[in-house]
Amino acid sequence: MPESSAPSAEPALAARNLTVWRRRDGRDVAVVSDLSFDLRSGEALAVVGESGSGKTQAFLAVMGLLGAGGRAEGRALHRGRDLLAMSRDELDRLRGGDIAMIFQDPMTALNPSMRLETQLTEGPRRRKKWSRAEARGRAAEMLELAGVPDAGRRLSAYPHELSGGLRQRAAIAMALLCEPKILIADEPTTALDATVQAQILALLAELREKFSLALALITHDLAVVAGLCDRMMVMYGGRAVESGPVDEVFSAPRHPYAAGLLAATPRMESARPGAPLPVIPGHPPEPGALESGCAFAPRCPFAMPRCGSERPPLSPRGGERFAACHYDGEISPAVFRALAEAPPAPSASGLGPGATPAP
Ligand code: SF4
Repeated sequence: MPESSAPSAEPALAARNLTVWRRRDGRDVAVVSDLSFDLRSGEALAVVGESGSGKTQAFLAVMGLLGAGGRAEGRALHRGRDLLAMSRDELDRLRGGDIAMIFQDPMTALNPSMRLETQLTEGPRRRKKWSRAEARGRAAEMLELAGVPDAGRRLSAYPHELSGGLRQRAAIAMALLCEPKILIADEPTTALDATVQAQILALLAELREKFSLALALITHDLAVVAGLCDRMMVMYGGRAVESGPVDEVFSAPRHPYAAGLLAATPRMESARPGAPLPVIPGHPPEPGALESGCAFAPRCPFAMPRCGSERPPLSPRGGERFAACHYDGEISPAVFRALAEAPPAPSASGLGPGATPAP
């Protein structure tokens, strides 16, 4: 089975043929299908896609956090061990130890009824055998590194006494206190205003460098990917549809969905400043709705008849590039925009919204 990244000797974290099932309306629905990827030591990997693309579900499965109604098949490898086969105790030791996760809403990690000191120091005291004084000192140090002013005093605060930005900084400090090697950040800036978003992204970049972290950044926003990440994996309909180095995907996407996302991302050098951004017409598929063919076909201006019946495999496209698409002509944001905005053309396939160029 192809992987969404070139194989590396010792990835910090890897998924192999990961499929995630959720119970919906009395049946099991695959919200992630056959997903394989490597997160290499020290790199930042962006995992990009619209809401419902499966990006969060994949990492919740890897972390053993699917909860009731969710189950995973395949493998999730850390240091050669399969996380999906670990006991709850082993996973508990790993979470907050070698692997940490932060969320869009910092209150997912922070307990509203506990002072910061208690919640920041409890885990590290147990795992690292730090004394109370040592744990308090290190927590204050980490809060300061995470940009929380007057950190020593803030340790006595409850989360509701902090702004949204400071709460996210505190959650980041808590995640990093046990010196993890891997940080999974799930939309960490989505709930924050634009200025604070930029500050938190700069903080993540700084801390990633300082602690040599492998970072998996889950986001729907390509604008946050450019300055922070080395490689990216684009997900659609529960599957990886493109992956590669960020600068290469940005300059020459190989999948129409990636081109559509790029066409819909504001750029400083926009040729038509002030013009409304194009959107990708249509809606993402419902999980489990597609039996065969390409999930993007109903929205794809490059769709051709075979796209409705043959699922394109994720295949190598030279170097570290992989894409899952039958079309092998030019797929640039400009071409995507022109085709998506073209009036519907008669199509034998009845697939894409615009023209249906032959490959
Ligand atoms: Fe899918 Fe076909 Fe469009 Fe490629 S050209 S994204 S295979 S619909």
